[in-house]
Amino acid sequence: MTKLMEIDQLSIEFANASGPIQVVSGISLELEPGQTLGIVGESGSGKSVTSLSVMGLLPRGLARVAEGDIRLHGQSLLDMSESQMQRVRGNQIATIFQEPMTALNPVFKIGRQIRESIRQHSKKSKKEAHKESIILLSEVGISAPEQIMEVYPHQLSGGMRQRVMIAMAMASNPEILIADEPTTALDVTIQAQILDLMRKLQKERGTAIILITHDLGVVAEICDRVCVMYAGQIVEQGDAKSLFKEPKHPYTVGLLNSMPRFSGEMKRLQAISGQVPHPSEYATGCRFASRCPSRMDVCENTEPALYDFNNGHRCKCHLYREDTNVTHS
Ligand code: SF4
Repeated sequence: MTKLMEIDQLSIEFANASGPIQVVSGISLELEPGQTLGIVGESGSGKSVTSLSVMGLLPRGLARVAEGDIRLHGQSLLDMSESQMQRVRGNQIATIFQEPMTALNPVFKIGRQIRESIRQHSKKSKKEAHKESIILLSEVGISAPEQIMEVYPHQLSGGMRQRVMIAMAMASNPEILIADEPTTALDVTIQAQILDLMRKLQKERGTAIILITHDLGVVAEICDRVCVMYAGQIVEQGDAKSLFKEPKHPYTVGLLNSMPRFSGEMKRLQAISGQVPHPSEYATGCRFASRCPSRMDVCENTEPALYDFNNGHRCKCHLYREDTNVTHS
């Protein structure tokens, strides 16, 4: 069966005075209709660059897909012309970002901006688009939509602006919503409301969501499947339940240990020491080696393979080699 989206061995390079630098290296993942896929990692892990490449929005002349493919319903997005990609962005894939002010126009009222995004995707009249805007704003939980249509973006709170962005993204009824750190700038209560809203829209409309975040707590809230990225590679992926229950990769374990939990035994939070390396300094062996508490000699110079466990749970780590004294699940 054709997947909704497949990323196949994707590598992305950035131009640099001393030659191209690979920032994303050979990542593969799949997205099913209606699924929520979390891509998690610290900043510098390559997750946002990956989402830009899916949207065909890598900065021209600065970054390019060096290898691999991105397919939507089996059709390569990389073979598409800019006008075809614009249609994909307008109809099949929509995006919301961390800071809605970067996407909203500060000089136009909210109503005009939503109407315009509806009319970009359909042949609706102004009047019809106005009616639909009100429906969309109600669907995203805005209680006085007619009034909100008449205000400017700066008159709204961060949470309200993110709701407006979600309404605009939903105007085309996309098959995929890419949400890049959608709740990072919001306080915890509003964060929970926005996650609830995304869950509700997904259920009602069957939209698949790619959620890009540094926060495993957010992933735990709404994702079916998780990809953990580190230094431009996917180091672990699997269904959310098994990944949280039995994390395999030392980096995933480190991320989980640094995350506050409100149930079970109280434990001191442990930060992962060190930082994600710059792409020009990626090691030839395991890229996590300089920070890994389980590092072995082999890790320094030999890149680990991707090992398969149950239900598509995969991990890129030498701990799971046949000749390593570790029990496979
Ligand atoms: Fe740690 Fe080695 Fe596994 Fe890398 S391959 S995560 S250094 S144990």
